[in-house]
Amino acid sequence: MSETTQKILRHDWTKEELIAIYNKPLLTLVFEAAALHREWHNAEEVQMSTLLSVKTGGCPEDCSYCGQAARYHTDIQVQALLPTETVISHAKKAKAHGSSRFCMAAAWREVRDNRDFDRIIDMVKGVNALGMEVCCTLGMLTETQAQRLQEAGLYAYNHNLDTSAEYYDEIISTRTFDNRINTIQHVRNAGITVCSGGIIGLGESTADRIAMLRTLANMEKHPESVPINALARVKGTPLENNPKVDTWDMVRMIATARIAMPASMVRLSAGRTEMTTMEQAWCFMAGANSIFTGEREKLLVTPNPGISEDLDMLATLGLKPMMCS
Ligand code: SF4
Repeated sequence: MSETTQKILRHDWTKEELIAIYNKPLLTLVFEAAALHREWHNAEEVQMSTLLSVKTGGCPEDCSYCGQAARYHTDIQVQALLPTETVISHAKKAKAHGSSRFCMAAAWREVRDNRDFDRIIDMVKGVNALGMEVCCTLGMLTETQAQRLQEAGLYAYNHNLDTSAEYYDEIISTRTFDNRINTIQHVRNAGITVCSGGIIGLGESTADRIAMLRTLANMEKHPESVPINALARVKGTPLENNPKVDTWDMVRMIATARIAMPASMVRLSAGRTEMTTMEQAWCFMAGANSIFTGEREKLLVTPNPGISEDLDMLATLGLKPMMCS
């Protein structure tokens, strides 16, 4: 049995090992990732996670890829925090359409201890009561805030690394890579599962991609969920003219993440509208076992396939949505 097919979790990956995996002949890489995927997961199931923007735009951060940053001139409509009942009704609808996870996103730099946070706590309680995995992405968190979310029933917190520590300053100047790591640690300490991945297509090198995956894979505990995003080029942002991400690069990233963190859910995230069903099938073969769905064909503020389109795709591929446990 080769090293990558032993049923163990490693936390000591070297840069050289991960680069060697990423650069394997593509079919060998996908074959190895697919084999490992089948050892650790039911490869016929794909988790559909619904992502809802509960507060959109007007963000003080300067993430170069994001249309919600207040400083960029984009077409994004700013929207204040949604009413709790509206959010719960979206969650019910998502569950009825096969989603087992519901993620609420607010375009904040950080959580503040104010009435908006109290409302988020109510939303978490309401979605949790539906029996769905409830996830939030709200920016930076203190340990006390993470504890409050955990007590309300939060299952997961999303906080992407985005890119490598070395490339981070090129993409975001209003916070540091270490800020990200600190929030992830607060989430862990509170007993909430971690959702953390990154984006490719930001202009980073292969070494940056590997460094980002290595940071995740060498954490004391692997993130339970690892979203791999292809840059969605938003008009008005500094990265709007970046080249389209090559699907084979997505396949390589997903396969490398699957091999390095075999127990994690690897999420094929942003960028799916620019992929055919066949291209997405390659991503599933490489070990992706989750997709994000969003209402109104949006993933936050970027285009995304609609739920019925996704259900058709899964049916075509003989895959089924993972049900709520
Ligand atoms: S990615 Fe998040 S933190 Fe960055 S600008 Fe967009 S909403 Fe703000």
